[in-house]
Amino acid sequence: MTYRPGKIVCVGRNYAAHARELGNPMPERPLLFLKPPSAVIGDGEAIVLPAASHQVEHEGEIGIVIGALLRRADEQAARAAIGGITCVNDVTARDLQKTDGQWTRAKGFDTFCPLGPALVTADEIPDPQKLRLRTLLNGEVLQDSTTADMIFTVAQIVSFLSLDTTLLPGTVILTGTPPGVGFARKPPVFLKPGDRITVEVERIGSLTNPVE
Ligand code: ZN
Repeated sequence: MTYRPGKIVCVGRNYAAHARELGNPMPERPLLFLKPPSAVIGDGEAIVLPAASHQVEHEGEIGIVIGALLRRADEQAARAAIGGITCVNDVTARDLQKTDGQWTRAKGFDTFCPLGPALVTADEIPDPQKLRLRTLLNGEVLQDSTTADMIFTVAQIVSFLSLDTTLLPGTVILTGTPPGVGFARKPPVFLKPGDRITVEVERIGSLTNPVE
C-alpha cells in the first residue's frame, strides 16, 4: 500500500543556482507550499500525465521525514527530529503553475509525488548538506547538483516550519530542486508517455517512475 503522509510541505527555490536559472531573487525566507497526500506513489509506479497540462516535468529533490512531534524547535532540535531521508520527485505541471497563479493544482495531481525507494535513517547520513543529487530522464542526466548549494539547510527549514505550526511524526518535507528543470532547458524538456524518470540521491538510492 502506498504510504500516505499526513502532510507534505515543500520548499520552492531553495538552490542558489536554480533561483538564478529562473531569474528569481534569492528568497529571504523559505518559500512554502503543500502537496496533497493523495499525490504520493512509490518506486516503479507510473506518473500519469493529466489531460489539463501539456508541460509536466520533473523536480528531483531530497525528502525529509519527521520522526518526532516538533514545535518551536531550534536548529539542533530540528536536526534531532529528522527520522529519515528519501528521494522525491516534485512533479509539476509548469504551464498550470504559471496560469493558475498559485500552485495547488500544478503540484497536486494524482501520482505527482513519487517517494522512495527507502527511508534511510538520519544516523546513516552524517551530513545532509553533502549529498549528490541527480535526475535522469531515459538515462540522460538533467540535474546534477549537491545539497551544499541549498539556500536554507535542512535544519533551518525544519526549524522554520515548526515555528508556529506543529510538525507531526510522518510529515514529509521536500527541500527544493537544483537547476536543470525542464522548462528552463533549451529546448524545453517535458515528460511524455513511455519516459522513465529517475531521482538519485547519494547514500539513499534511486527512485524510478515510468510515465503514462
Ligand atoms: Zn520542488
